Amino acid sequence: MTTARSTQNSALRSLPQAEAVIDLTAVADNVRRLCEFAGGAAVMAVVKADAYNHGVLPVARAALAAGARELGVTTLGEALELRAAGIDAPILSWLHTVDADFAPAIAQGIEIGVSSPRHLAAVVAAARATGVTAMVAAKVDTGLNRNGIAGNEWADFVDDLARAQAEGAVQLRGVFSHLAHGDEPDHPGNAEQRDRLREAVTDLRRNSLTPQVVHLANSAATVTRPDLRFDMVRPGIAIYGLTPIPELGDLGFRPVMTLRTRVALVKKVTAGSGVSYGHRWVAPRDTMVALLPVGYADGVRRNLSGRIEVQLGGRRCPQLGRVCMDQIVVDLGPDGGGVNEGDSALLFGDGRHGEPGAQDWAAMLDTINYEIVTGVGGRTVRTYVGREGGGER
Ligand SMILES: *Cc1c(COP(=O)(O)O)cnc(C)c1O
Repeated sequence: MTTARSTQNSALRSLPQAEAVIDLTAVADNVRRLCEFAGGAAVMAVVKADAYNHGVLPVARAALAAGARELGVTTLGEALELRAAGIDAPILSWLHTVDADFAPAIAQGIEIGVSSPRHLAAVVAAARATGVTAMVAAKVDTGLNRNGIAGNEWADFVDDLARAQAEGAVQLRGVFSHLAHGDEPDHPGNAEQRDRLREAVTDLRRNSLTPQVVHLANSAATVTRPDLRFDMVRPGIAIYGLTPIPELGDLGFRPVMTLRTRVALVKKVTAGSGVSYGHRWVAPRDTMVALLPVGYADGVRRNLSGRIEVQLGGRRCPQLGRVCMDQIVVDLGPDGGGVNEGDSALLFGDGRHGEPGAQDWAAMLDTINYEIVTGVGGRTVRTYVGREGGGER
């Protein structure tokens, strides 16, 4: 996705045809709400995947200004981009191949999550080569069986870590783990993972390895399980105003991304005429339709064909027939509803103007809202509203 700021193309200087509007005031409000949920624990704002496709730098700055203490990302590249932009808050990066180039991250004071003795060895080698002590976090697999140090490698890992720290190659800063059932608050696995993380910390302490921060909770656990907070919580999706557990209802978060487009063409379709590929929709009466220049290449998934509604002209207009690569058609009704070419149309947002939410699309597609917002792209231009760090709009 391009950002408005970096766009020099004069063709795009007029209003964009497809736009992801990012409300930074909502980011700040959501972070403050998460700080309330966190109680005494710190908040690490998870800004991986370009801040869930909301734009990492503006979101990171807004989150830190609103009270987030640290930032969490997946890759070293993501971490280095934040540092290069002048962000000096603690940054943790947690998913790497063993052959990754750890040296620049070590030099930039990025905390590196390690998931095996081999990963630790690679970090130690890079630290020796650079002459800088690497800050590491032990990512413990407490039951997710995905990333993290496996149970059968734990003892070796602790030995290696104790040796590397004694040598001055690394400094253990964090110990963390990730939940398998965070979105099922009452699942017994959550308490089991909590207890295993505690045991891991005890093990480390027994070996004179004392972490400064222990963390486990994602968004779902942050809002439902105070007993999983430890020193810090690690929310992602709630920062973007989407709920990790739709059944919980309103938790006081506001969706940050609005996907909007503008009417490219208004035309009449006569009764009995089919609309879009395959004529999957046939007009039951004469009607007016609007052509909107967004399609599956921009994140409006083709499986949504004939199922979504677009907020246009002050009401919900049903989308007709197939979603195409570049465009969709919506029904304006026989009188056209006063809609004109160039009018703004909302695909999803925070609902303030009557539009659907990303969660509505997720439910239709049998997926999660995370996939809806990260799937917006193609020619969509990202623009920002609201002040970084909150305050008045
Ligand atoms: C993505 C991620 C998070 C944030 O999860 P949400 O469900 O978005 O709150 C936290 N920790 C780790 C390790 C992650 O990968």
